[in-house]
Amino acid sequence: MRCVSCHAFSVDVVCSKCAKRLLRPTISRRRVGSLEVVSLFHYSVIEPFLLTKHTPLGHRIYRYLGRHYLAPFVETYRQQEGASFGVIGIDEHVGHGYAHTALLTRAIRHPDIPVIHGALLAGNRVNYAGKTLQYRLDHPRDFRYTGPANGTVVLVDDIITTGITLHEAMEAMRLAGVEVAFALTLADARY
Ligand SMILES: [Zn+2]
Repeated sequence: MRCVSCHAFSVDVVCSKCAKRLLRPTISRRRVGSLEVVSLFHYSVIEPFLLTKHTPLGHRIYRYLGRHYLAPFVETYRQQEGASFGVIGIDEHVGHGYAHTALLTRAIRHPDIPVIHGALLAGNRVNYAGKTLQYRLDHPRDFRYTGPANGTVVLVDDIITTGITLHEAMEAMRLAGVEVAFALTLADARY
């Protein structure tokens, strides 16, 4: 295939040269209530890639970002902490033909890291894009969790904006008796 950026032949959707040049991780952390959220990129860095989300190319880009960035981060955490946990994507419903968060979590799957697909779905699928903080607070996602009611998980999403969605997701998990170690996103929209 060809690299989406320089169009040279490449084994991946982004060639290694462009990845080195354009996809430099800048890990940031923030707290939303009692939830720690780790983001691997500043949004401004990764924006052109994430904007492919609802295009046919987005499928390959999301898979690529999951495999090359999220998966190594989660595996390193597992090894360093000696932790045992599962991975859950936020609202893995199928829209536009595929669930983009499912592409990310599928890429993280490892023999020692189970991925629980489609178990945390929003009852309210209001689109938050461009909406104010007050609007987001007034229209909660109303998450329903249907996975195993124990253990620890890492929550995964592509972008953190206000953090309201991730925090709501964490509360739904805790109500079900599941501990959330932290949330992991590709991008932090603050940057
Ligand atoms: Zn390239």
